[in-house]
Amino acid sequence: MKLKNKKIAVLGSARSGLAAARKAKKHGAKVFISECKEKADLENASQLEKEFSCEFGGHTEEILKNEIIVVSPGVPTTLPVLQKAKQKQLEVMSEIEFAYRLKHKNSKIIAVTGSNGKSTTVSLIAAILENSGYKTILAGNIGNAFSAFPIEEEGIDFIVLELSSFQLELLQKFKADVAAVLNITPDHLNRYENFQDYALTKFNIFKNQDKKYIAVLNFDDHFCRKQADNLKAELKFFSLQKQKDIFFQNNKIYWENTELDISQAKLQGPHNVANIMAAILCTQKFDIKNLEDTILNFSPLQHRLEKVAEIHGISFINDSKATNTESVKYALQSFQRPIRIIMGGRGKGEDYSVLNKLLKKHVCKAYLIGEEAEQIRKAIAAWVDTTKYDSFSQAIKTAFLESKKGDVVLLSPACTSYDMFQNFEERGQAFKKVVKELEDEQ
Ligand code: ADP
Repeated sequence: MKLKNKKIAVLGSARSGLAAARKAKKHGAKVFISECKEKADLENASQLEKEFSCEFGGHTEEILKNEIIVVSPGVPTTLPVLQKAKQKQLEVMSEIEFAYRLKHKNSKIIAVTGSNGKSTTVSLIAAILENSGYKTILAGNIGNAFSAFPIEEEGIDFIVLELSSFQLELLQKFKADVAAVLNITPDHLNRYENFQDYALTKFNIFKNQDKKYIAVLNFDDHFCRKQADNLKAELKFFSLQKQKDIFFQNNKIYWENTELDISQAKLQGPHNVANIMAAILCTQKFDIKNLEDTILNFSPLQHRLEKVAEIHGISFINDSKATNTESVKYALQSFQRPIRIIMGGRGKGEDYSVLNKLLKKHVCKAYLIGEEAEQIRKAIAAWVDTTKYDSFSQAIKTAFLESKKGDVVLLSPACTSYDMFQNFEERGQAFKKVVKELEDEQ
């Protein structure tokens, strides 16, 4: 894609938008940033104005004076100005598409999406490739934006992309050498019309693939299995239940002529076995070295069922990344001890009553916080003891005071953190800080 002297509008000035804007400018484009937040609400507004021409406080028709429109994942694609841009036949693309068109042709793409397990799986894939001696970058929804890397230069063997459903909108030429859908369960229902729309957006990851390319899918996921028939790529299935291309039985993973005992792996729990199997399938086609070592020694990422402390026999677990009910279901099944769960934050339109049976079985009390506390209480109160708290630290401290030896205090919120924190990392850090204070007081 030639960018010299092209007029480009970038919608959204957060991480991905800013990276795309800087990349476009570097390639000689004239960049216009359009940001819906007011100037006063942006820390970096004056920096943005130094680098680009900008508008703040809304997306106006100024955008239509440009030739290419790059849309950040946070910006709804239903914006009227984007519909007008399409009518005017302007090129409208996502940041992922924009970066894809700039990347060097020899760099291979491995792209992963799913409702849960993306970050764990892409990090493991990157580790497998790096430990095999490949120059690899990890980008997208994890860490830095795709456009933030020197992707136009030769020498990067693999670009591993974690893609959220938002990032899978507005793709055109994007084509992944290997693409995977880990699972699809209700999430982000506040952005999509319905589950079908959300799920089909995830399947955009296989866009443009033909039979020379690989599609990795979860055989145990009903939607993945059903939609697989519509794909042209070579299909590879992983399963915890059936003997598919790769599968799990009695602590061992089996594929081709290989078996791997993962009882000593640092990643634990059935969800992580699924993630490991997906990572193996995603890299299987390439010349891989040290696979067993990499898998067994790969440590869980922070904020995903992370053990933070043990005080008087009470465990504290930080699962701040559990922002939907499906990940909470896995968390609840990961402990054989009574759980005191801290839930709440900003909701995404989910029905929390899907947790009721597991809450009844594993949880002695739910400590509810944030905007969604009342909504959650209504859905679960008939099944489990609940109390609402105004402050996060009060919820954690009360859970500790009410715990008996052997209990687990689990932060697994089923909600986003945006009502109280910048992001899930900040929420997880806040949890750890309160737990550390409790530890120091003992
Ligand atoms: P994502 O990037 O898709 O949010 P993460 O690897 O960061 O995925 O994990 C997010 C949450 O989901 C954590 O609470 C984690 O324990 C849980 N999780 C991880 N893998 C899976 C999976 N395959 N199925 C269900 N839940 C999972």
